[in-house]
Amino acid sequence: MRKEPVKIKEIDAKTRAGNFNEVVLGYSEDEALCEAGRCLQCKNPLCISGCPVGIDIKTFLHKITQKDYAGAYNTIREKNNFPSICGRVCPAEYQCRIACVLSKKGQPFATPQAINIHFLERFAGDYGMRCSVSAPSARNSGLKLKKVAVVGSGPAGLCCAGELARAGIKVIMFEGLHKLGGVLRYGIPPFRLPRNILDCEIESLKNMGVEFVPNFIVGKNKDLEELFKDGFAAVFLGLGAGIPSFLGIKGENLCNIYSANEFLTRVNLMSAYEFPKAHSPVNIGKSMVVIGGGNTAMDAARCALRLQLMNGIAPNTTILYRRSEVELPARRLEIEHAKEEGVQFRLLVKPQEFMGDENGFVRRLHCLQCELGEPDSSGRRKPLEIPGSDFEVDCDVAVVAIGLKANQILTKVTPALKTDKYGDVIVEPETMETSIKNVFAGGDIVGGEGTVIEAMGMAKKAAGAIIERLK
Ligand code: FAD
Ligand code: SF4
Repeated sequence: MRKEPVKIKEIDAKTRAGNFNEVVLGYSEDEALCEAGRCLQCKNPLCISGCPVGIDIKTFLHKITQKDYAGAYNTIREKNNFPSICGRVCPAEYQCRIACVLSKKGQPFATPQAINIHFLERFAGDYGMRCSVSAPSARNSGLKLKKVAVVGSGPAGLCCAGELARAGIKVIMFEGLHKLGGVLRYGIPPFRLPRNILDCEIESLKNMGVEFVPNFIVGKNKDLEELFKDGFAAVFLGLGAGIPSFLGIKGENLCNIYSANEFLTRVNLMSAYEFPKAHSPVNIGKSMVVIGGGNTAMDAARCALRLQLMNGIAPNTTILYRRSEVELPARRLEIEHAKEEGVQFRLLVKPQEFMGDENGFVRRLHCLQCELGEPDSSGRRKPLEIPGSDFEVDCDVAVVAIGLKANQILTKVTPALKTDKYGDVIVEPETMETSIKNVFAGGDIVGGEGTVIEAMGMAKKAAGAIIERLK
């Protein structure tokens, strides 16, 4: 049995930094067979407990070794409607891979020795998509006449819709934007998640009978009461955390300072990287600065660097993060990719004030150097400013990527829907039911920013409770 993991093929850094094409190429059949063959087929597979939706990882890996790729696909689909998406974006090093017995215990991230479960999931998912393997069919639950509204088409909404449709329930999904997918569409760039993959996964829901209503904001076009009057037996809220946080420092209103949400929405949803073929522009600078250390910051920085190169500007994009490299919350692969492509990292840095020119455009950012103190409530070591360590960085476009908050369009007009101090919807943890009967919620609107598969895990739980309720 091979001991070393099979490395995944990627486009080389220099080529890929000049376009928005997919970076990671995926396993060939031989590579997938080799990597799946490294699985020890543990009697008590711990990896399954690391997956928020409990995919039977041991079985799907075994099926790959038997060349039963359709079987592997169906095993995954029993628990996860979107293997090709999760196989590309899951931070597996914090989830299933960290639980794999081959990962070294006590390390902050799964060591490279753990089975590359996510890449194998992508292999099986792409096989299913390419070969049109039919998904597990609708169960006959006797719920054919029931109708459920799903609000929001991010991973939580999509997952809930898939689970309900499989139980034979009619699902109508309302989405405020003109395109479906939530963060998968407007946040995550196509070089990480190609749009044909996302479209295909959404298409599979259409084939299961889910109906989509874009450009429809629940809370503005119709409220929850009106949905119930329209005959919906239950509602699932997958509203996400779409409101950006800001630094709250002087000069933050200067021109060319974007929230990561606006920047990424322009680039990814509105295809600003194809401007003027696409209609929405985005401003590109000679010294672009991204503030933050999560996936959003990595995505914004990698987009910024690509835009510079594609517009003949020497690449100069810097990430400023207030803690050290170990605390960077982004997926390790994205951090490595950003570095390889030429994104610069300045760590232990706290922005103090943006400074602009006489026309009101940002020009420089005044910062303080930090050092790490004791762990704070998040368990990470707290950044402490070093007095007198002031310095300035050039910056003619800045992107603030320091976090997202609950989208409150609906909650603000629905007083009966109880929220916490952050504006997140409060749910009964066993059922995901909110303070309003037959209204359920999941994903980032419950408990704040998380991961795609965590959002899907909550949505699955809610879907199960809705099915029970409707019975
Ligand atoms: P969202 O994806 O935010 O979807 C919510 C949807 O609801 C949106 O489409 C919104 O328009 C719609 N909506 C809101 N209110 C209404 C209303 N009133 N009426 C109708 N529609 C409404 N996680 C990972 O696991 N891996 C990653 O690599 C990763 N990268 C990320 C990169 C970025 C840039 C960002 C921002 C997040 C990333 N995440 C990643 C986190 C992950 O994307 C989220 O946790 C996940 O998308 C949450 O899913 P959701 O369905 O709850 O919300
Ligand atoms: Fe791992 Fe994510 Fe796949 Fe679950 S969905 S097995 S956590 S890669």
